[in-house]
This record gives sequence, C-alpha cells and structure tokens, in this order.
Amino acid sequence: MSAAEAVRRPVVDVDHVTKSFGDHVVLRDISLSVEQGSVTVVLGPSGSGKSTLLRTINHLEKVDRGQIHVDGDLIGYRRQGDRLHELRERDVLRQRSRIGFVFQDFNLFPHLTVLQNVAEAPVSAQGRKRAEVEALAERLLARVGLSDKASAYPRQLSGGQQQRVAIARALALEPKVLLFDEPTSALDPELVGEVLDVIRSLADEGATLVVVTHEIGFAREIADTVVFMDHGQVVESGPPAQVIDSPTHERTRAFIRRVL
Ligand code: ADP
Ligand code: MG
Repeated sequence: MSAAEAVRRPVVDVDHVTKSFGDHVVLRDISLSVEQGSVTVVLGPSGSGKSTLLRTINHLEKVDRGQIHVDGDLIGYRRQGDRLHELRERDVLRQRSRIGFVFQDFNLFPHLTVLQNVAEAPVSAQGRKRAEVEALAERLLARVGLSDKASAYPRQLSGGQQQRVAIARALALEPKVLLFDEPTSALDPELVGEVLDVIRSLADEGATLVVVTHEIGFAREIADTVVFMDHGQVVESGPPAQVIDSPTHERTRAFIRRVL
C-alpha cells in the first residue's frame, strides 16, 4: 500500500450491509465509507434505520449480510479461511472501546461522579492506570467546559452539561471514530448550541465523526458528506451543497423541505 492509499483508507467502511428485525428489513444493502478526519452527517426520517446503522458499526446489532471494518478491523467477526466466526464478548468489547458512541439520552452512570463517568471505561475496558486516566479526564472536562463539575453527579447537571460529559467520556477512550446519535434531540432548545459547539470543535481539530442529527444548518456547516437515508436505504449522499441545497431525489427534497 502506498502512503497516499494508507492516508485514504477509510476509518469506517460499511460494505453492503443488510439487517432485519423479524420480517422487517431495516437496513437494505447499505454501503458507506468514512475517511479519516472527515465528518459524515446522516439525515433521514424517523424509522429510516439511522440508529440501527450506528449500532451495527459498534456491533450492538449484528448484521445479516455484508461487513463492517473500523480502522481495518472486521467488526464482530474473525476470519478463518473463507469462514467468519463471531468474536467472543471480550474481543467485541475491545473493538467497541475504540469506537466512541454518544447517545441521545446521554446514558451517564447516575451513581458515579462526572470525573468517574469519564474515567471508568479506560480503566475497566482498556486496563489503563486510574491516576493517569483521571488526569486525562480532567483535561477532557476542561475541553468541554466542565472543569468545575468534576465531582458533581449527573442529576445535578443540565441536559447540555450531561451531554458534554458524555462526549468527554467517549473521547477518553481515544476512539478512532465518534458516532453521535441525535446528540441534541433530548435537549431544551437553549442548550443545543453548547453541545453543537463541542462537536464543531472536535471537527475543527480533525476528529473523524459520524453524526445523526436533524439540525440541518449544523449539518450544512460541518459535514464533508451528507448521507440521506429513507426506508433503510441510502437514497443519496454527497457534499451538503448537493444533498441539502440541491438534492436530486424527490424523497430527499421532501424531507429537507419538512425539516428546514
Ligand atoms: P431511526 O434511528 O432512523 O429512527 P431506527 O434504526 O431506530 O430508525 O429504526 C428503524 C426501524 O427498525 C424502525 O421501524 C424500528 O421500529 C425498527 N427497530 C429498531 N430496533 C429494533 C429492534 N431492536 N427490534 C425490532 N425492531 C427494531
Ligand atoms: Mg434513531
């Protein structure tokens, strides 16, 4: 592989993935590739499969067909000859620990302080030294503007602050890619901006991001690639100037009109 090819290798490579729940096909032959340092925004109506797509990247859902690589690692399986064997839980957790995931509803541990929330996974999942991880956690809390909340508990914070803790927690694993599933949908409108500011700063620093959001203005501003999904399919994808401002498919046009 040449140096140029090494740089271009996608961090996330979703290759012809299909996923059903019972008879219901939720992802239909999805392919998607996310380059290092790029921002991909996934748009689409409720029920179109956006969350399921993110969850397959993390192996929180198993795919029925197709495969996913993150940073060159086949997710959830190990290849032996031409057969695939599902990984053991421990190996799945190791893969998952390099894929940051930020949920709509924060999912902080209520019984742990803010600092402990950020430091927990690197210690338990990556076996790093607590003192070293706590120093890192303090730096990450400063980065998301929450140095003064290190010893608070989640219930003492606003939704926007909790989501910023969740972002710091994801960053503590030094992930190859950060996946955001509607990170501002559960927030009061006046708290959305502080969370988008943090995501924007990560993009500016060159992090590799996949963001599911209905914030169209934000998508236009930060996305390198916008992917529009409907009924489990990628209907169209491309730069925001194309997919948001002059979509070619009627389904995309109708969706953009509704959310603008
Ligand atoms: P989106 O995030 O775009 O709103 P989802 O990926 O959450 O869409 O859901 C896509 C479809 O899959 C929906 O119809 C949803 O009801 C269905 N679905 C999601 N998760 C499950 C599950 N665990 N079991 C059964 N159906 C599910
Ligand atoms: Mg969803």
